[in-house]
Amino acid sequence: MSTSNLQTITFECETGNYHTFCPISCVSWLYQKIEDSFFLVIGTKTCGYFLQNAMGVMIFAEPRYAMAELEEGDISAQLNDYTELERLCLQIKKDRQPSVIFWIGTCTTEIIKMDLEGIAVQLELSIGLPIVVARANGLDYAFTQGEDTVLAALSNKCPNNRQNKNHNIISKNNHPPLIVFGSLPELVVNQLTNELEKYNILVSGWLPSSKYMNLPAIQEGDYIIGVNPFLSKTATTLMRRKKAKLIQAPFPIGPDGTKKWIEKICVTFNLPTPGLENREKEIWQTLNPYIDILKNKTIFFMGDNLLEISLARFFIRAGMIVHEIGIPYIDKRFQSAELLFLEETCNYKEVIVPRIIEKPDNISQIDRIYDLQPDLIITGMAHANPLEAKGFNTKWSVEFTFTHIHGFTNAKDILHLITKPILRNFYKQVSGNIL
Ligand code: SF4
Repeated sequence: MSTSNLQTITFECETGNYHTFCPISCVSWLYQKIEDSFFLVIGTKTCGYFLQNAMGVMIFAEPRYAMAELEEGDISAQLNDYTELERLCLQIKKDRQPSVIFWIGTCTTEIIKMDLEGIAVQLELSIGLPIVVARANGLDYAFTQGEDTVLAALSNKCPNNRQNKNHNIISKNNHPPLIVFGSLPELVVNQLTNELEKYNILVSGWLPSSKYMNLPAIQEGDYIIGVNPFLSKTATTLMRRKKAKLIQAPFPIGPDGTKKWIEKICVTFNLPTPGLENREKEIWQTLNPYIDILKNKTIFFMGDNLLEISLARFFIRAGMIVHEIGIPYIDKRFQSAELLFLEETCNYKEVIVPRIIEKPDNISQIDRIYDLQPDLIITGMAHANPLEAKGFNTKWSVEFTFTHIHGFTNAKDILHLITKPILRNFYKQVSGNIL
């Protein structure tokens, strides 16, 4: 494609009338990630019903989270918020002995303007446990942004002084300290840490760490990099409060994204990347069986978890055609490298840059789906079965949040997820025709 034909992204915004999970759902993966934590969601029965249903069988495994269910007396201020929360937190401390209690604010605590931050400062002194307050409510945020609010609040608890934290690795290499932020399962943390070590990059710490007691120290001038596109508030907090320097890179999703992510860190630290190009090529080769199936297939993202742009970029590189990328919210500064990479990928593959629709309108999207007849729709559970019944292939978007999708080795799992529904319906049709 000649430079005069290069395309750029245009953004549209709709009504925000779309389905997504409430951000308090982040409790489900964060309590497992931070092993010595306890999460207290301060809300109503609505929040409780949601958590109970969304978490499925996990609720039978004595999870380290609970609801502080607000009653009439709390809402009309007849009960004292401080006394009520003190009673609950002392009980949690006695029964579960956590190292930290997270308070998750909800729509109701926002509307009645409960001063959670103010109460937490007094209460943590009296009960002798740190309290982290995150306003992961459905009024302001969507699904994965819940994690962003928690990590932004948690970053304020990171120690400033590395000398006092003997568990925090001090880089012996010739590069300044690097802290990676974003909650990933330990296996994936180790995979990415090992990938970076191959290029002499030493990760000084991860936010969050698997134990609250091991939170990384972050000092002025340290470098930070994110692993997920929904962490813009955390990035801003780390830059403003800790004076850390953000490395802008596409996210390590897909072999293309992972290569760029590593490359950006190496370029920042002036380190060479021998063999990185080949490593990416080798991974693409292992993906060929999937690429053969997905090539020239069309895909439509209704949008609910903020991973959409990175996934779409990877799918385009794998030969698919993306009609539309719906997304709840884009921080164009935090996602700038990913957006640029999407443009580059579309130009490289000579395909049209997809429409990006922020705050989509599900009803208008269904109209467009009928017009475009995509081969695959990435959507939430509300629309998946009705669309399947109309003959469309769908994939539940929530699976991308809970599957290992980061780094070179997990690229296969992402393509496996999306080829499954296409093949299933293909075989159904074939066997139907034979019968
Ligand atoms: S959207 Fe608000 S009321 Fe509903 S579950 Fe989430 S926090 Fe609770």
